[in-house]
Amino acid sequence: MTDLMPTETEIEELVSTRRDIHAHPELRYEEDRTAALVSERLEGLGYEPRTGVGRTGVTALLDGEASGRCVILRADMDALPLQEQNDVPYVSQNAGIMHACGHDGHTAMALTAARMLKRAAPPARGTIKLMFQPAEEGGNGAVAMIEDGVLKDPKVDAAFGIHLWNHLEVGKVAIVDGPFMAAVDEFTVIVRGTGGHGAMPQETRDPVLAAAHIVTALQQIVARNVDPLQAAVVTIGAIHGGEAFNIIPDQVELRGTARSFDDNVWRELPGHIERVATSTAKGFGCTAEIELERLMRPTVNDPAMAELVREVAREVVGPENIVVQRTLGGEDFAEILALVPGCYFFVGSRNEQAGKVHPHHSPFFDIDEGALPIGARMLAGVAHRYLAD
Ligand SMILES: [Zn+2]
Ligand SMILES: [Zn+2]
Repeated sequence: MTDLMPTETEIEELVSTRRDIHAHPELRYEEDRTAALVSERLEGLGYEPRTGVGRTGVTALLDGEASGRCVILRADMDALPLQEQNDVPYVSQNAGIMHACGHDGHTAMALTAARMLKRAAPPARGTIKLMFQPAEEGGNGAVAMIEDGVLKDPKVDAAFGIHLWNHLEVGKVAIVDGPFMAAVDEFTVIVRGTGGHGAMPQETRDPVLAAAHIVTALQQIVARNVDPLQAAVVTIGAIHGGEAFNIIPDQVELRGTARSFDDNVWRELPGHIERVATSTAKGFGCTAEIELERLMRPTVNDPAMAELVREVAREVVGPENIVVQRTLGGEDFAEILALVPGCYFFVGSRNEQAGKVHPHHSPFFDIDEGALPIGARMLAGVAHRYLAD
């Protein structure tokens, strides 16, 4: 493992690359500068990168001495539509765009892993495929790359990816067997009634009152319909209806998200939402129409691949720093893990003393950069170990 330790120079380059990408964030499928940086760096390391995979994605191969299995290391490259509020030298130069999820770090870590893997002894057998993905944030970039053949030529046998995680102290790594991140559904409920004068409700069918009860009643799905040993969330994030204080409107629109880990819960949630919304509306003389879109499937780790990541983490951070932590956030790496065994895991990037405590997607989000070399070692380590077995 010693040759898979980043040198001082490599760590300096890792941090400066992350800061460079952080200062120049790009939205989903617009990662042109980032993709060019990635492909230039890879070329400089002696790789032959392929660009334009899944629109703005980049791939590169590192072949072992003999053919064998192929393992993918994935990093996402996109930023978010958010105005950065941090006062740091590497603050975003692009107004209204920010690396507020840590994908700048993911890309930089994968580049350093690429560098370490290149200078290390090549794997005896097999191929390492580097995957720099666009559009993780609501753009299904993983699917775009799958459709463009990222899992073929050579056929991919295993996949690994990292998310830096500000809910976990730097120096710790979270690895989970089975479901790790959630299935994500987005839904809209349109509650229709009959509007009228606010002082004469008897002549109306009030969709505001019905909607208020629907918001409350939807919470009973998690409390009463879902197995208490399973995790699920139903959140209403938007309510729109009405214009004036004294007019009962004709309709109210609710928008929300449902999250779950378990396949059965995932399958059943839409039916529960439909039943609760329509029957509650009916009780108020209104109707409810539901539209639901399945945005992401659950991210499910293969237990054997998770164990392989734990083996590497024992060497990188020590057994006492390996924890179990899940989130009901969603992740499009799920699409890859639905097709090949693998493991997605968190590398802690939180530091209370340094004030690196803000959640992902916050305009104050920033990481403890001490997480970066840990992530690079983990990526390089799991690829090597996978091919060594
Ligand atoms: Zn995110
Ligand atoms: Zn993210």
